[in-house]
Amino acid sequence: MGKLDVAILRYLTGEDFRVLTAVEMGMKNHELVPGSLVASIANLRHGGVHKLMKELCKHRLLTYERGKHYDGYRLTNAGYDYLALKALTNRKVIASFGNQIGVGKESNIYTVADEDRNPLCLKLHRLGRTCFRNIKSKRDYHAHRNNASWLYLSRISATKEFAYMKALYDRDFPVPKPIDFNRHCVVMQLVNGGPLTHVTAVEDPGALYDELMNLIVRLGNCGVIHGDFNEFNIMIDEDNHPIIIDFPQMVSTSHSNAELYFDRDVRCVREFFKKRFGYESDLYPKFSELERDDVLDTEVACSGYKRTKDVDNDLLEEMGIGLEVSDDEADSEDDDQDAAESANKYTEQDLDELRKEVDASIKNDETVINQITEIT
Ligand code: ADP
Ligand code: MG
Repeated sequence: MGKLDVAILRYLTGEDFRVLTAVEMGMKNHELVPGSLVASIANLRHGGVHKLMKELCKHRLLTYERGKHYDGYRLTNAGYDYLALKALTNRKVIASFGNQIGVGKESNIYTVADEDRNPLCLKLHRLGRTCFRNIKSKRDYHAHRNNASWLYLSRISATKEFAYMKALYDRDFPVPKPIDFNRHCVVMQLVNGGPLTHVTAVEDPGALYDELMNLIVRLGNCGVIHGDFNEFNIMIDEDNHPIIIDFPQMVSTSHSNAELYFDRDVRCVREFFKKRFGYESDLYPKFSELERDDVLDTEVACSGYKRTKDVDNDLLEEMGIGLEVSDDEADSEDDDQDAAESANKYTEQDLDELRKEVDASIKNDETVINQITEIT
């Protein structure tokens, strides 16, 4: 598996960063951001934004595309990665990059290190790039929220993952220590061990089974369900204890399908233990037997990811974010049309707002927002 191509982090300037951030802000409302809009909201003193954009295209951090109704720029995956990684290095959260260690359904996982060479884990969330087959029928709804693009979905996924990981870590659940996040990237403790799916034999399957079922119950009593509690998302550490990972799809026990998700998590463990270790037990948790003693679900919901103004949560729910998002070619003509119209409709006040957002975003990228202490 490959290395993260980060050489470019060293060469690009603050102006490049500003131009990319301007395109990112423009993409809140456009599939393709007109060059004139980028120039206007990047607001660089010496002009020359078009030359910078051309260079950024050469480095494949931007692409210039011809839409049906108008042409414009958009960030590539690499461009979005660049913004997040630059922010995380500015904040001194990470200082060097290592190898890819995993590839999940909707993510790439790398080792990285902080300034003191402590190894860390970096997860880049990659949700379906454009449209979603399973919401084709909801296209009208989607068209009026054309900002619900891969960029924001990946970011929501990472934000949600970080929020859950932090809430769980604070309650002493066995999860990686959350370090920081930016855009679609989460930095966390690197688990010393491998996924349960690589484990062929354990000394005491019954003990591990109990430990996992107790975790499902403890989560449930806190008001949450993992939602993807399987042998790929359960790591086994050096001491043969489980560490749970992968949280973007977690749901509240108040969710309308909560019992279904809960039973599925329980069934995953039972079936895996039967198949892999030949272990079966009549004892397994039931949703109706949960005794709620915490409000982790509402705490996380209040911590921000639900309030983001970029993507509304009902839409995410309908798309089953973290559950079954399929990438599909966007039929984005309507979106193009919308964008083409609105591109001409910006007032000086709108532009000023966008410029302020660019400034605020850049400022946020430079400060350490998360003050969780070092890994011990
Ligand atoms: P996805 O959401 O794409 O399934 P996961 O969070 O499950 O991504 O991670 C995919 C794989 O990466 C895991 O199965 C595991 O092997 C590895 N991995 C993830 N997080 C860590 C970590 N903190 N430490 C070590 N390995 C990890
Ligand atoms: Mg996973």
